[in-house]
Amino acid sequence: MSGGNIANNFGSFDVVFEKGQGSTVYDINGKKYIDFLAGIAVNCLGHNHPSLVKAISDQATKQIHISNYYNSDIGLKYSEKLLKASGFDKVYFGNSGAEANEAAIKLARKYGYLEGEKSGIGGKNKKTIVTLEKSFHGRTLNTLKATGQEVFHPECFAPYPDGFKYIKAGDYEALKTAFDESTCALMMECVQGEGGVNLIDKEWAMAAASAARKVGAIVIADEVQTGMGRTGSLFASEWLGIEPEVITTAKGIAGGVPMGACLYRGKVKDVFVAGDHQSTFGGNPLACSCANAVLDVMLEKGFFENVVHSADRICSTIRSWNLPCVKEIRGKGLMIGIDIDGSSAEIQKKALDQGLLMSTAGKNTLRFLPPLVITDQEIDEGLAILKKVLSC
Ligand SMILES: *Cc1c(COP(=O)(O)O)cnc(C)c1O
Repeated sequence: MSGGNIANNFGSFDVVFEKGQGSTVYDINGKKYIDFLAGIAVNCLGHNHPSLVKAISDQATKQIHISNYYNSDIGLKYSEKLLKASGFDKVYFGNSGAEANEAAIKLARKYGYLEGEKSGIGGKNKKTIVTLEKSFHGRTLNTLKATGQEVFHPECFAPYPDGFKYIKAGDYEALKTAFDESTCALMMECVQGEGGVNLIDKEWAMAAASAARKVGAIVIADEVQTGMGRTGSLFASEWLGIEPEVITTAKGIAGGVPMGACLYRGKVKDVFVAGDHQSTFGGNPLACSCANAVLDVMLEKGFFENVVHSADRICSTIRSWNLPCVKEIRGKGLMIGIDIDGSSAEIQKKALDQGLLMSTAGKNTLRFLPPLVITDQEIDEGLAILKKVLSC
């Protein structure tokens, strides 16, 4: 079966999936695969998780959508729980990571506009957002421009919106000049996902946040990928120490049902007023019911500890093989990058043939983003396939 007429901008493998259970999925021929990808960090509870299935079916009998003109019971319940767990004051719900980031960009711009006038630092020109090289922030025009990688700014989609500036993670010199009166925000991932699973040094991140705040700018943590337990805590900014005013998150938030969120607090909590930003579908009862179920499972005792345990099991097992073609294993929690000697795309393809789903991040980096509930047995089965296809 081919890809039919679905706009296929990812490039496609010749496989058609039908169902899954836990961290195992099956194609239409009944062939089994271990899932080390989780739909790109989305299926955080794996496949067919009873809590998520129940949340979907129960909510479907009540209400799937009601306009944002009104509140829904589950929307109120979930947002309260999320804000309490994260320590934020307010939340905007959209339907994807890029939308969450668009909301954060608008929030930062309006904050800069108001703050520049009020404080006299920057006036109405306090609009520039500093992001990092090798970052990834989404596929809308604004979030593409926020993305600090030239390959994401092809001429064919120009003109791009202005107002972004890039610095290199770890570059202390850059911190001296990157921020000025015109800066309204620093926006950064806590671990760069699409850019290569790059860890950000904590000391540097804190210095960057402090340089931003010195000119009255805010800090936005793009936790679209790192958020919702992926790195072993609810949000990665908890351990990075940057204390963001704004967090964006999406991928795993509702376990596979599309949803994004922009959480904000403190001095930006009253920046958005009615009419400033909105979404028709954003935070509808079905999505909130799923996100509520996901958060309940994550807040159960031992959930994050298990993420750390599984990450250790994967990394220490691969290290113990001492394979000459494995150059480096890095990551945080279940966001793991493995540099290899050889083509990552080739290994990815071979692994698929043998029954293991994974991703790549660049020509020589394999990327694992398994469900956060993956079992030891599924890890071992997946790693056995990996070892076979690495064959070095
Ligand atoms: C995936 C991702 C996005 C974009 O999310 P979409 O849901 O695809 O719009 C933005 N930022 C980061 C860090 C991501 O990993």
